[in-house]
Amino acid sequence: MKLLLLNLIALLYPLFPETAELRPPAPTPAPQTVHDEGKRPKNIILLIGDGMGLTQVSAGMYAHKDKKLNIDQFPVTGLSRTHSAKNLITDSAAGATAFSCGCKTVNAYIGVDAKKKPCFTILEQAKKEGLAVGLVASCSVTHATPASFIAHVGDRAETENIATFFLETEVDLLIGGGMKYFNQRKTDPRNLVQELTQKGVVVSDFSKQAITDLRPDLKHPLAWFSAEGEPASALKGRDYLPAAARLAPVFLKQRSDKGFFMMLEGSQIDWGCHDKDGPRAVAEMLDFDLAIGAILEFARQDGETLVIITADHETGGMTLEQGTGPDTLAINFNTNYHTACMVPVYAYGPGSELFGGMYENTAIYTKMMELFGWGNVQPTPGSVKK
Ligand code: MG
Ligand code: ZN
Repeated sequence: MKLLLLNLIALLYPLFPETAELRPPAPTPAPQTVHDEGKRPKNIILLIGDGMGLTQVSAGMYAHKDKKLNIDQFPVTGLSRTHSAKNLITDSAAGATAFSCGCKTVNAYIGVDAKKKPCFTILEQAKKEGLAVGLVASCSVTHATPASFIAHVGDRAETENIATFFLETEVDLLIGGGMKYFNQRKTDPRNLVQELTQKGVVVSDFSKQAITDLRPDLKHPLAWFSAEGEPASALKGRDYLPAAARLAPVFLKQRSDKGFFMMLEGSQIDWGCHDKDGPRAVAEMLDFDLAIGAILEFARQDGETLVIITADHETGGMTLEQGTGPDTLAINFNTNYHTACMVPVYAYGPGSELFGGMYENTAIYTKMMELFGWGNVQPTPGSVKK
């Protein structure tokens, strides 16, 4: 308790330095009116900052100094409770399955409910309804967060098994690492890059082409692998996520007249926090914010796109404490795992008004399904593959 109090004081101190006169803060501008209230979106873009609690957003904000973060521009904010089926502290598999299927499941389960029954994901539903669908991540595409939108397995570690699901549901645009789980497989002799190509997907990768050199052919789905395994951190030069955020909505919009659903993940905020590495976590936060900026620019011009930003959980119990100078902050961590703290939700565009308030993470799925007009649609059963 004493420690908690000390932490709180340390956090508040920079806001109320002893020498400054205490006065009410300058009036903030009136909140932007909710965009297109009551209208339904044609397209939904779900942006997930893995491990992105309010402290991670704040750290990014302070690091950005005088410039506003793109995430600051979202008119609607809410809070999501993140617990999984059996644990107060979720992992990313159960966290993402809450968004993709609307059910609380067991940690490490991917696209299956708490009884390990496959749940039809919003991405699969969107595909069935004729929308274009996309998955973009700054980790491997088989990693827990993107995997939970397409695969149905009882263990997130089964990366090669997860990769096979990309042959079952056609993803119009796939960007991320993990190419080796497709073409250098240890569990079977299949070459999934070849199989994808045979199915008409244009497959390219970092060794052949920079993402900015891609000239997508709208007649074919596109997959671009950013790494053999896990992509590098933003601090070590990984920079494809913002470029992917510029390309993805423009491409998907032209792939179907009915609209699109896409999920883009800032995957490595979580990894920086697991390693208790403040500068790395901040660099990942700012990289994710650049992607958010590109998506917001698209949504502003498009007018029919709902953008939601949230996190699966907070990681690290990150705190912002007094640094060595009067206006400097020190980033500290209380754990190398996730925490049970609520996470922020931000929304922009038609339907964004539904995302204010406090709710379970599963409500993000329910709200998206309602806004797409599929609130009462019975899911199609799938199967778990061993
Ligand atoms: Mg993740
Ligand atoms: Zn994590």
